[in-house]
Amino acid sequence: MAQFVLQLNDIDESGKDYSFPIETSWLETALTGCEVHANTAAANGLLKVHAQKSGNDVLVRGHVTASLKVECYRCLGDALLDVDTDITTLFSPKSSSRANDNADDLDLDEVDRDTYSGDKLVLDDFVREQLLLEVPMQPLCKDDCEGLPIPEGVKPPKDFGRDAIDPRLAPLMNISLKQKTQKE
Ligand SMILES: [Zn+2]
Repeated sequence: MAQFVLQLNDIDESGKDYSFPIETSWLETALTGCEVHANTAAANGLLKVHAQKSGNDVLVRGHVTASLKVECYRCLGDALLDVDTDITTLFSPKSSSRANDNADDLDLDEVDRDTYSGDKLVLDDFVREQLLLEVPMQPLCKDDCEGLPIPEGVKPPKDFGRDAIDPRLAPLMNISLKQKTQKE
């Protein structure tokens, strides 16, 4: 069920402020099937918007915070991600080809576009999209995450190095040593 709904009748050209909690349960549902999850240990997020009519379009500006949990790119552990970002989108009526006419005062190249239908603006998909946009390509649990621990059996032997060179490779080693000496 839609959680973030603005009734168009409530919104005029001077605009109206809204504030919605972003509950973990909503996040879990909205993010189903994604690699991104709600951080269930954190408090609710918050969606604050100012919605303003401009002809048939509605300009929505605001701020969204939420706490997410993704997989660390290096160690595959939990990486917590606090989203805290500004949002701006212009909603136009669906299937309206002249939606731009009344929005000349906006620099449309700078503004994201979306659509609405009927007499209300449902922000759920929009909020979900904004949250996903904030997830980095390679999230880390911490900046200096060292990645997965290397299992003992896969580690190179302790004496790994020149002394441990396969005897069959010794001639090659000698050649490379000679070349080095010649260069010096
Ligand atoms: Zn990590």
